[in-house]
Amino acid sequence: MTLRIAIAGAGLGGLTAAAALHHKGLDAHVHERATTLREQGVGMHLGPNATRLLHRLGLGPQLQQCAVRPEALEIRAFHNGATLTRQDMGQTWQDRYGAPYCTVRRGDLHRILASRVPADRIHTGKELVRHEETPHGVLLHFADRTTAHADVLIGADGIHSALRAAAAPADTPRYSGDSALRGTVDTTALPGLDPALMYMYAGPAARLLLYPIDAGRRFTYVVVTPTPEGAPESWTSTGDRTDLETALTGFDPAVRALTAAAHDVRRWALYDRAPLERWSTPRTTLLGDAAHPMLPYHGQGANQAIEDAVTLAVCLKEAAPGPAGTAAALNRYEQARRPHTTRVQLGSRTPHHTRNTPTATTRPTDAGSIDWILGHDAEAALTPEPGTLHAA
Ligand SMILES: Cc1cc2nc3c(=O)[nH]c(=O)nc-3n(C[C@H](O)[C@H](O)[C@H](O)COP(=O)(O)OP(=O)(O)OC[C@H]3O[C@@H](n4cnc5c(N)ncnc54)[C@H](O)[C@@H]3O)c2cc1C
Repeated sequence: MTLRIAIAGAGLGGLTAAAALHHKGLDAHVHERATTLREQGVGMHLGPNATRLLHRLGLGPQLQQCAVRPEALEIRAFHNGATLTRQDMGQTWQDRYGAPYCTVRRGDLHRILASRVPADRIHTGKELVRHEETPHGVLLHFADRTTAHADVLIGADGIHSALRAAAAPADTPRYSGDSALRGTVDTTALPGLDPALMYMYAGPAARLLLYPIDAGRRFTYVVVTPTPEGAPESWTSTGDRTDLETALTGFDPAVRALTAAAHDVRRWALYDRAPLERWSTPRTTLLGDAAHPMLPYHGQGANQAIEDAVTLAVCLKEAAPGPAGTAAALNRYEQARRPHTTRVQLGSRTPHHTRNTPTATTRPTDAGSIDWILGHDAEAALTPEPGTLHAA
């Protein structure tokens, strides 16, 4: 009998899981709370640890059309823009890790992933409010009072996951003390900067990262500043342009020009949670931010969600029939992923100005220190289930 798989949440993690499951010939329904599919309009980093998996799903050509493979990162003096160090990336990192490092608009990646899931398998306006797990299956209850049945339920419902509470002890998000102002500007607004490069400026009160998206037509900016707790954890739309000007006071005028061009300044307060000691039951499991929300200082939250999603798809594909096989598959997935994501999650807490590694707000001059993240191959790391032949 075909395994009935339900996924709560159509973010980057949930959609990657759905795309990977369908790619492997399994059927999965995605239930998304929002009434339309959407992602935030800013950029993100995709490390080779994620791009190698996306390429195996056949997404390489679509990614190539919209993503940028930055040639290098320049770390610049915040006050006068002098180049302090330059880290070659581009082909150097491609050769080093066997897959490209790229930057992409989140909405583009979201759209590409959605295109790999049959439209009739994505259900919007479906907020999961509770579920019942029985020996025979899982019954999902939605806010609109409808229900759905499944054999397996995957919680890809983000940092405030409803499923997490069922699979793990209660906990609350932990505030980092920092918030991030993010948005995009046309690259022509910063004529002194090369849209083939990434830039990092570390000032005394703010750190700025700029990287290209939209095939080099726009820069995403990320400005991280210490912020008292209580700042909103989601989009804000008014007043933050002034915050941007304040944060970049004293910065090189060539880069400070972005404040005049920025029309879409949004702020995120940066939260994570403590690593979990378990996140699966016999019929439910978690992935992405639902399982391991992390600070963006390694730029890895969505990358780890992609690794989770592909690993889980392999485990479910190779599962023995029946409830015991499903439970074993979820356990195998969790055992493969939890130690690694815990390490990334805890590593992401290290304040980035105290080290020299890539982050969502800084970039490396020493890539070697995060080889274990960027060089990771989640499928190769998956040990074969005893008694089965491993199929990647
Ligand atoms: C400033 C900043 C910069 C970042 N930069 C990067 C980066 O460069 N690279 C990177 O890899 N990561 C980065 N991240 C992290 C990344 O954004 C997240 O880790 C990633 O989006 C998590 O994806 P997800 O699918 O697990 O969760 P989400 O993106 O939160 O998606 C959850 C989905 O579930 C839906 N949902 C929620 N509750 C329910 C429910 N009850 N029923 C049904 N649906 C529900 C939501 O509407 C949403 O669509 C950054 C984060 C921040 C804050």
